[in-house]
Amino acid sequence: MTAAVDQVEGVARLAAILGAAQRLLIFTGAGISTASGIPDYRGPKGVWNTRRPVFYDEFMSSHESRVEYWRQKAEDREAFRSARPNAVHEAVVDLERAGRLELLVTQNVDGLHRVAGTSEERLVEIHGTNGRVECQSCLARSDPSKPFEVFAATGQPPVCECGGFLKPATISFGQSLRMDDLSRSCEAANRADAAVALGSTLLVTPAADIPLEAARTGSCYAIVNRGPTEHDESPFVTLRIDGDVGAVFPQAVEQALA
Ligand SMILES: [Zn+2]
Repeated sequence: MTAAVDQVEGVARLAAILGAAQRLLIFTGAGISTASGIPDYRGPKGVWNTRRPVFYDEFMSSHESRVEYWRQKAEDREAFRSARPNAVHEAVVDLERAGRLELLVTQNVDGLHRVAGTSEERLVEIHGTNGRVECQSCLARSDPSKPFEVFAATGQPPVCECGGFLKPATISFGQSLRMDDLSRSCEAANRADAAVALGSTLLVTPAADIPLEAARTGSCYAIVNRGPTEHDESPFVTLRIDGDVGAVFPQAVEQALA
């Protein structure tokens, strides 16, 4: 276990880690998107406290569940329409441009890393994305605008040309992660020389095992999060900063790349 350091000391020590790393694995969670206006689902005002999630098998087996699922997604889409990337998303792009990023793995489904400019080959959206819809039968992916229009106009859950159920391409409760995403993440974790987890409580597995896997195979491992995380007691953590990721990470990246 590593004692948490404050923000001022944290920036300098994180900058040293980032400056030395050639193959960074960065792992991000909901805490980095709150500054973009997207609430942390697990936070005190999180919608999980008031809304019953629709599990994947319910979505597949019940028309009413599909209606409820699309209703929730339409509500989120409206609420987060104006969300834009912030300085943390942009700092990750700076690291990629400097040739330091091995892989960015995000738990966030808001698509903001993609909007900020992180490239496809350096990005794994491990819990999927609201930026696409996916047919549950033929697996075709497409832009979500039309299906949301259909739902708004008819109140009926949209279907694919093949007849399959369309669903925003996020991983629902009870739905497995994509094997390809998991294997790309594990390979990158093994190649990485440093892992940094940002704005995640690191509670949700197997996603949260990815930075720990990098640490286990010899990388140094830094965590920046306000409040406790599941890895705080791990002997593999080399730097633990308890503070605002928006105040720490962009500054540390700037210092590291100066
Ligand atoms: Zn289809």
